[in-house]
Amino acid sequence: MLKTEHIGIAVKNLKEAISLFEKLLNSSCYKTEMVESEQVNTAFFKQGDTKIELLESLSADGVIARFIEKKGEGMHHIAFETADIYAEMKRLQEEGFILLNEKPKPGADNKLVCFLHPRSTHGVLIELCQEIKLS
Ligand code: ZN
Repeated sequence: MLKTEHIGIAVKNLKEAISLFEKLLNSSCYKTEMVESEQVNTAFFKQGDTKIELLESLSADGVIARFIEKKGEGMHHIAFETADIYAEMKRLQEEGFILLNEKPKPGADNKLVCFLHPRSTHGVLIELCQEIKLS
C-alpha cells in the first residue's frame, strides 16, 4: 500500500456536512461527484497528502443509508492507495481477507476501487484504490 488515500465519512446531509468540514478544515471542498452505481453523492477535501470523502446516500436503501441506520453518522471506511490494485487484491485474498468484489470497479474521484469485508479487518471497512490513468 502506498499511503492512506482518504477517509470516508457517512453523513445524512451533504450540504450541511460540507459547510461544517469547510469550517473545521478551513479549506474549501474541491469536488463533489455523484456515483450512481454506489448510490452516493460524494464531496472531497484535500488535507495534505490525504483526503476526506463525505458520503451521502442517494436513496433510502443505499449502502450509506443502511450504514447510518445501523451505526449512525461517522467514519465509514479508510482507503489505501495501491500501485497495482489487481496484485494487492490477489495478495490479500491469499492472506485470507474477504474481498467484497471480485474485480476492481470504477469509484469516485477517477479511481478503480475494491472493498474488503470489515469482518476480516477488525470491523473497519477497507477500500483499495488506484487512480485510473488516462492514456
Ligand atoms: Zn472511498
